[in-house]
Amino acid sequence: MGGFFGVVSGKNCIKDIYYGTDYHYHLGTRTGGIAPYYNDNFTLINKSIHENYFRPQFISELKHKKANSAIGIITDDYDRATVISSRLGKFGIVAVGRANNIDEIVQEAFESGVSFSVKEKGHDFPQATEVVGKYIIGHESRSIEEGLIKAQERIKGSFSALLMSEKGIYAMRDRLGRTPVIIGKKKKAYAAASESFALDQLGYSVERELGPGEIVFFDKSHIEQVKQPGKEMQACSFLWIYYGYPNAVYEGMEVSQARMRCGAALARNDTVFADFVAPIPDSGLHHAAGYAEARDIHQRFPISKYSHTWARSFTPWTQEKRDEIAQKKLTISPTMLKGAKVIFLDDSIVRGTQLRNLTSRIRKSGAKEIHMRIASPPPIYPCEFLNFSNTKDSVLAGIKAIQEIKGSASIDDDIIKEFLANGSERYNEMVENIRQKIGLDSLAYQKLEDMIESIGLPKQNLCTHCWDRSSYS
Ligand code: SF4
Repeated sequence: MGGFFGVVSGKNCIKDIYYGTDYHYHLGTRTGGIAPYYNDNFTLINKSIHENYFRPQFISELKHKKANSAIGIITDDYDRATVISSRLGKFGIVAVGRANNIDEIVQEAFESGVSFSVKEKGHDFPQATEVVGKYIIGHESRSIEEGLIKAQERIKGSFSALLMSEKGIYAMRDRLGRTPVIIGKKKKAYAAASESFALDQLGYSVERELGPGEIVFFDKSHIEQVKQPGKEMQACSFLWIYYGYPNAVYEGMEVSQARMRCGAALARNDTVFADFVAPIPDSGLHHAAGYAEARDIHQRFPISKYSHTWARSFTPWTQEKRDEIAQKKLTISPTMLKGAKVIFLDDSIVRGTQLRNLTSRIRKSGAKEIHMRIASPPPIYPCEFLNFSNTKDSVLAGIKAIQEIKGSASIDDDIIKEFLANGSERYNEMVENIRQKIGLDSLAYQKLEDMIESIGLPKQNLCTHCWDRSSYS
């Protein structure tokens, strides 16, 4: 995944870009980039944020800088902020998402004589942002506006971008609106962000969210539409369930409220007895609050996250590293857990390995019964549209369970479909297989229709590909 921030201002906006980009840190762990523009000069700073937080990495280089406009990005891959000098002028570009046909676009570019810079050691394929940036100003484009529209039509997948020219910033939301782009305004400044709360935090009032595929241009004092939004939308459901920030609002639906409704929906279908309800932090917090409220069972917090020194475990290096970080940052209270029957709430189970380790630690702390309620259905199909985790279908807990039940690693779509209907005999077998492996006393997942209702948007406006492969590209 990733998130971006861009600003054009009548004042020095270096602080806004620094904090505005940093408020997207929860969306990526690998690379941070900032491109400020000041007095006709573009600067470019990209750094790895693998081993360090974003702000300490950038403070020394930004504290003496000034900017009239700037764009910034946090990503989970090697893509980064890019500045390109072209016949249509100089511009900086940052992008979020995934261009699935990037190899094809690169090949065409090579054939017409375009070259790309090599990224970093061990990763010398061209980065998508540079490829798309060069596509935008390709020889067939008479303007940046035309290039953006062509790029949006050409890219398969999902590609939202901020392009900063000498005049201002173009903000483009991906064709089907899988990722958000929100426009904010304050005195003599306009900004665009992936997360609405980043705008609130910096004193911007939210002007509006771009529609799917919409492109706008803004400078410090005005905004204009370059391309109207399309009619079809496929906003990523996981924004509300897992990776969006609690106070963020997408399509008018606040994340924390959607999570509360998810918890309440799980509660409606549940009768298991427990001494208390507890979240798996952080993303289980609001799911648990909604569940506890709906069933009138009080909440306790036997698991606390030690996040002061441990980076989050979204997509670091290897599975072993992810598991290690996940275990180290979650601390457990044996005093609260000893002899207790507990209903835990979490957002999703992807592989199940981290939850298995955590369950074993909870059990060792003396918990008598461990019941797990999951705010989304078992993911069955890996994401094809965003760089949302690097999970292959063969390691998804649901797929592994189906393979084990069928006694074969080769399972086709017809077989998978047998297991998808919540409550069916096959579905229950799959859940039981996962429950046993994790070591829980009971396990229940959200029904897809209840998750959609909790988010609050019509199904046709949401991407639910992870669960039913129904989304389009
Ligand atoms: S496939 Fe899953 S993670 Fe990817 S956009 Fe769709 S719902 Fe989101």
